Amino acid sequence: MNTAPRSDRANLLIWPGLLAACIAITAFGIEQGTRASGFCAAYLMLILALWQLEKRRPHEVDWLRNDGQMWPDFLHTALSKSIVFVLVIAGGTFGWFDALRPAGSLWPAHWPLPLQVALALVIAEFGFYWAHRVSHEWAPMWPYHAIHHSVRRLWFFNTGRFHLVDTARSVLFSLPLLLAAGAPQAVLDWVSALTAFVGLLTHCNVRMHTGVLDWLFTTPHMHRWHHAPNAMEGNTNYGENLLVWDHVFGTWYRPPDRDPPRIIGIADAMPDDYPGQVLAPFRWQAIQAEARLRPARLAQD
Ligand SMILES: [Zn+2]
Repeated sequence: MNTAPRSDRANLLIWPGLLAACIAITAFGIEQGTRASGFCAAYLMLILALWQLEKRRPHEVDWLRNDGQMWPDFLHTALSKSIVFVLVIAGGTFGWFDALRPAGSLWPAHWPLPLQVALALVIAEFGFYWAHRVSHEWAPMWPYHAIHHSVRRLWFFNTGRFHLVDTARSVLFSLPLLLAAGAPQAVLDWVSALTAFVGLLTHCNVRMHTGVLDWLFTTPHMHRWHHAPNAMEGNTNYGENLLVWDHVFGTWYRPPDRDPPRIIGIADAMPDDYPGQVLAPFRWQAIQAEARLRPARLAQD
């Protein structure tokens, strides 16, 4: 039974509707022989749509306020996402990945493309899941991922706020799995495109209802739980696009009786500036020690 209030029922269409529009634009671009421009047009459309929707129907009004992190957010995104984009496009264009696919692969190339993409998403998610979980639960990797979790608000603009090492970790855990399975370039392109679209949707500050989608997909609702400040609630919902491995490994988390916290962030100290954030993992202990001394110094002044 659909228990969403009447005013929320239209909200059910926002997440799948925007994703379907992105898929349609990308597919049109591929059909026209311009796969990169089709993806870019869809990505731009999604950014503009989310930008407008966040202003008109924010999930959290407080998260509309400038947190002074737009430049770091932009620079992290520009560096990490453009490297992934160039890697996937160039890898396909110049055939870099062909040599890495095993001969005589069992990949079901005869399946319809959507089924191949679904299979590839599940395989890639295994890598995404463990890369992400390791970042949270293995202390040496946390400082790289902490940059993403240091935000005090979630919105489309800080979707790509990842340290370069953190981005490399995600790619290294997932891309080799797909290449070893023999996934063709067309499938890799779709996995990359869908990951980019779902990422923006996951972080957006738009009021929407995702209902049963929360069971399988990394929706904004599920990802807001992942940004909860306490580890018991935050070390959950690790999936990048799908939550299938969260079900398998017991980290799927969606309390039925309450909403995700409005106050998000981390207990660790994080510099406010971009260079400081890039260097933070390499001087993590010193930054935390300085932060512990700061209140004592302020009291003395
Ligand atoms: Zn995380």
